[in-house]
Parts: sequence; C-alpha cells; structure tokens
Amino acid sequence: MRMERERALLAEYGRKMSSAGLSHGTAGNLSIRDGETGLIAITPSGVQYFDIRPEDIVIMDMEGNVVEGSRKPSSEYGLHAGFYRANEDKGCGAVVHTHSTYATTLACMGEPIRAVHYAIAGAGTHEIPLCEYATFGTPELAKKAVAACNGGRAVLLANHGLVAFGPNLEKAFNLASNLENLAQIQWQCLCTGRMNVLTKEQIDQVLVRYQTYGQTAAKDGSLNGY
Ligand code: 13P
Ligand code: ZN
Repeated sequence: MRMERERALLAEYGRKMSSAGLSHGTAGNLSIRDGETGLIAITPSGVQYFDIRPEDIVIMDMEGNVVEGSRKPSSEYGLHAGFYRANEDKGCGAVVHTHSTYATTLACMGEPIRAVHYAIAGAGTHEIPLCEYATFGTPELAKKAVAACNGGRAVLLANHGLVAFGPNLEKAFNLASNLENLAQIQWQCLCTGRMNVLTKEQIDQVLVRYQTYGQTAAKDGSLNGY
C-alpha cells in the first residue's frame, strides 16, 4: 500500500478528532500531502471515525484522480486540494476540517474568530476570517475558502465549520483544536457583552515571540508550540 505511515496517522487523528469532540458523527475530514510525490492521502466520505482503518484511506493526485483505494474519498477533496495548491510556498503538508461546536457557532453567527486572546497568533494572523456560505463539497466552497484565508492558516466556513492547515497533521490538528478553544472563549465574551480585542500590532509582537517560543526553533515554517 502507498503512504502507509500517512494512512495510519489519518486513522489515528480521525479517532482523536472524534474523542476531542471536534467532530460529531461523520462530520469533518483530514488529509496529508506528500511533498515529494504530490499525492494526497484523505479520509473516506461518510465513515465514522472510529471505524476508519488505514486501508480505508484514499490516495489521490492533485487532479482529483484516485490513485489507490476502494473507498469513495471525502466530499471535500477539492477544498483540501485548493489549500495545498494555494499554500505550497508555506509548506502546507496537512489539512484538517472540523464542525467543532464553538467555531461553528461563530461561523453560523457570521462572526470571524477575533484576537480576544493572544494565542490566535498560532494561526499566523490576528483574525480567522469567515468565508461566505456555499454548499459543502463544491468547487465554489473550495474557491471561496481559499480566497478568504488571507495569509493565515485557518478559515471559518459560514454555516458549516472550520478549516486549518499546517506543515504536518499534528500541527494542523493542534491549530484546529486551539482555535476551537479560542472560539469558545470568544463566545463566552459575547455572552457577557464584554470583549477586549487585541490589535494587529499586538498580535504581530506575539508572532515575533513565537519564533523562539518552546524548546526548539521551528524549522518547518510553523510556529513553536502549534
Ligand atoms: P465527508 O464525510 O465526505 O468527508 O464530508 C464531511 C463534511 O464535513 C462535509 O463538509
Ligand atoms: Zn464539513
């Protein structure tokens, strides 16, 4: 089988995504791109995450052809491919799409995730923008989401959920998980009617500090700790 390591990781992180409450039922999807071959390993469509085995993962090329696998690939294959295509220079190696509760709540309210907490800098930006609604699994949604991303590593999909990406699956998953936490904090602020949003300049200073945060210098273009 091709991409055996990636298949095992996707099955493992699918279970993690469900256990962490970032996905309910068959919502959401995960992929990894091999930088050398350009092939994408992606979760199958409509299969419960605890039932996904490594052999259920589908291997695809960047043109949307199935290279290996007997399952139907995720309906959001085009969304994942769009992020890989648009972020090659940023070393985009994995994409995570969730319908996590608080991020999706803000996306349903038409609210971006704002800099209510400095940790938003983990996405490389001061705000997670919201892309306009489009039907799931369509080229229109992929196009709108990629265009809305605006320099950061995540975007909210109106009335749908969140997409986050990173150099590898662990970092993309951690970003999606951290953004869900920030969305919850923002929701709680909104409930109290009190919210102090940090400025772009304040987040730029956090971005500088993140270059040296953690135990080792990040060599993969991502931020330490994320
Ligand atoms: P798939 O099961 O086809 O991956 O779709 C789930 C989803 O989140 C659609 O946006
Ligand atoms: Zn979805």
